[in-house]
Amino acid sequence: MVNVYDVAIIGSGPAGLAAGLYAGRARLSALILEKGVVGGQIAITNEVANYPGVTGHPSGALLVANMRGQAEEFGVTIVKDEITGLDLTDLPKKLIGNSEDYHAHSIIIATGGQPRLIGCSGEKELTGKGVSYCATCDADLFTDLEVFVIGGGDAAVEEAEYLTKFARKVTIVHRRDKLRAAGSIVERAASNPKIFYLWDTIVEEIIGDGIVEAIVFKNVKTNGLTRYDADEDDGTFGIFPFLGFIPVSGLFEGLVKMDEAGYILTDSDMHTNIPGVFAAGDVRAKSLRQVATAVADGAIAAIEAEKYLGIRDC
Ligand code: NAP
Repeated sequence: MVNVYDVAIIGSGPAGLAAGLYAGRARLSALILEKGVVGGQIAITNEVANYPGVTGHPSGALLVANMRGQAEEFGVTIVKDEITGLDLTDLPKKLIGNSEDYHAHSIIIATGGQPRLIGCSGEKELTGKGVSYCATCDADLFTDLEVFVIGGGDAAVEEAEYLTKFARKVTIVHRRDKLRAAGSIVERAASNPKIFYLWDTIVEEIIGDGIVEAIVFKNVKTNGLTRYDADEDDGTFGIFPFLGFIPVSGLFEGLVKMDEAGYILTDSDMHTNIPGVFAAGDVRAKSLRQVATAVADGAIAAIEAEKYLGIRDC
């Protein structure tokens, strides 16, 4: 006989785990499906200092382990499998996995997103060791050090400004000679004495043995390479690429409504345009992508799934 879950949650980052916890506590049968490592982006974050009520700067991995434990305590099943297809027209809805198929009355999409990478040598190896994609999370690690922000969009320039509260010098490295960021953001940055610019430049290589020690820039007009080494007294510096964020939503293209960038559109209660299908966390169109907001989305989505199933009065 086919096992039909009340709710299937795709993705096990903070949004998915919070959805699982709230679904479990509501006594729904809940399944979380994860293709990779439980925890998503936050699992690779060195320390989390901005999640209210959690002190001591735990690692992202520890925070996720606690969230997972809480969800499992309330009966949530977590399965490692990659969902490769969906049939949302059938009732129950069908999720086609690499290992097997799953059936559920409602679905919460919590597949998150990923920062666009520079793609240069050394980037992956030194992520969390000087390379960071989250200024809010890691800026204080670079107090009084130098920092390079890569990119010229709103995020790069705004985050560069934020980083000046910690770093002694912030250089924005942009592949063109004009920022893409909005005029008001550019103007504010222009009046910040700690912000410098390196135009027409991309990152060719990041170098370091366990920690960022040097970076090689390439001028796209002259093709000339320049190596920058960490100040001897500092030993290291920060690299923050902000080249845009890519939602992990390809699977849902043509099934649920998305914006031009591929973020899933929901109302404020996480409903997509398909009844019984919700989206939570970084994959949905929203203005602030943080653990706190992902967890809130997941909680709301689970309670809305409960209402959809007719178990809770609206
Ligand atoms: P974005 O606007 O797509 O900007 C990405 C930047 O990275 C661009 O400057 C781009 O260069 C550069 N880039 C992309 N790929 C690159 C590569 N391979 N090598 C070097 N440079 C590369 O991304 P975002 O800044 O994350 O913003 C995303 C969306 O969120 C935007 O719609 C933005 O308006 C919005 N946002 C708004 C705010 C705000 O309103 N306060 C704050 C943050 C984000 P080019 O310019 O040459 O293309």
